[in-house]
Amino acid sequence: MAMQNYIGGEWRDAASRGTDEVLNPATGECITEVAASDADDVDAAVAAATDAFVSWGRTSPRERSEKLLALADAVEDNLDELKRLEMENVGKPTSIIEFEFDLTVDNLRFFAGAARTMNTQAAGEYIEDHTSMLRRDPLGVCAGIAPWNYPLNMAVWKLGPALAAGNTFILKPSELTPMTALKLAEISADIFPPGVFNVVTGQGETAGDALVKHPGVAMVSITGDVDTGKLIARNAADSLKRVHLELGGKAPVVVFDDADLETLVATLAETGYYNSGQDCTAPCRVVAGPRIYDDLVAGLSSAVGDLVTGDPMDEATAVGPLVSAGQQARVAGMVGRAVEGGAEVTVGGDTLDRAGFFYAPTVVANPAQDAEIVQREVFGPVISVQRFSDDDQALAWANGVNYGLAASVWTSDVSRAMRMSAHLRFGTVWVNDHIPIVSEMPHGGFKQSGYGKDMSIYAVEHYTELKHVMVKF
Ligand code: NAD
Repeated sequence: MAMQNYIGGEWRDAASRGTDEVLNPATGECITEVAASDADDVDAAVAAATDAFVSWGRTSPRERSEKLLALADAVEDNLDELKRLEMENVGKPTSIIEFEFDLTVDNLRFFAGAARTMNTQAAGEYIEDHTSMLRRDPLGVCAGIAPWNYPLNMAVWKLGPALAAGNTFILKPSELTPMTALKLAEISADIFPPGVFNVVTGQGETAGDALVKHPGVAMVSITGDVDTGKLIARNAADSLKRVHLELGGKAPVVVFDDADLETLVATLAETGYYNSGQDCTAPCRVVAGPRIYDDLVAGLSSAVGDLVTGDPMDEATAVGPLVSAGQQARVAGMVGRAVEGGAEVTVGGDTLDRAGFFYAPTVVANPAQDAEIVQREVFGPVISVQRFSDDDQALAWANGVNYGLAASVWTSDVSRAMRMSAHLRFGTVWVNDHIPIVSEMPHGGFKQSGYGKDMSIYAVEHYTELKHVMVKF
């Protein structure tokens, strides 16, 4: 498998010949090296994508749809290899890999269908002898900047709607996890004309920054940290390109005393620690009613203590490593400061004494609402639990963070569930569940979790510009 950039249908080293090491987080060892790209490589990719846009931008929805369906089939044909690369590069356990790849293939097929279904208002005469009609035109060259937690899935969330709408696309995967992006380029080579889909690897501050600032890029979509999103929004302002920001989360789980405790504990123990908690919608911040709190902390701590953590290749493993030494240190630091601030660790709370970047699944009980562990994204296998006194406090605490990506409400009272869903300031609200997502529904944030949507027809619309054509007769 080639480890060079994929630009204009060709595999190329970085112009500087520089490379970055890629590590296996379960061992800390280097797997391979990839191109360390900079502005020269981005210039080449933008030139190739600009050339390709001339004809790709004029293809019919049917043609684009058929190409995306072919890509979905090719991903399916290469699933074993793609899963292996993601497990090796991100440390994902075999036990959790299935769901993500099933979603990735389904996302591609959804976008293939959505390419053919874009609607606008019916044409009409709004002044005498003039017909007005609307078009949804592609933007041109779009760039997608992906994070490391779901490398292939996040890439597809960006390239799917971009290509469906008739744009050409440049993907910059995370410098930590470029493997599946390069494999995707390889298997797409026979499907798309040269330059329609390009992959440039490298650091955010070099390759990513050059894409964000490039005047030839019409839109940049990033999934990443809030601070990265703010920097990108500022850097994109000079060229006034469209920006789509899918940023961090701090999902509250609002549990009322009448919740089904058994289902709740099982859901939290699975979804809060899935992908080592490196999930922007992970249920990481429980606010629980005064009577259910003690049983919830005890039940959750027991279930979390039973989670098998270790070798991702072992079928029994539920929780693998964190992605990097930096992420491991961040999680350990945040849990340590929570304890110093008066919270109690009821299970976990340690790095594992083995090679790789492991951290034990952890529950932190009773932190203050203004504690760092409540206010800042940990992005690790850690759930905090707070005890609220009434509904108003539950809502205030749930909404009382800068993030607004996802939340859940647990109650058997329908009125309360409806009231909370209306007042929670988050892009997704689940009732009596947490985490399921589907291709048809939008995923995106309120507040500092960013703006714009992934998945759904709304994502495809975001990669287009509305044009009014008026014809005098
Ligand atoms: P990150 O912000 O460090 O990096 C994300 C991407 O941005 C990487 O490809 C990186 O190279 C690039 N980047 C960094 N600096 C850049 C710059 N100055 N210019 C251009 N590109 C730059 O995030 P991460 O650590 O890779 O991912 C974890 C973060 O992603 C978490 O905060 C998580 O919540 C968020 N996330 C959000 C969603 C969502 O749907 N909202 C989904 C997954 C992850």
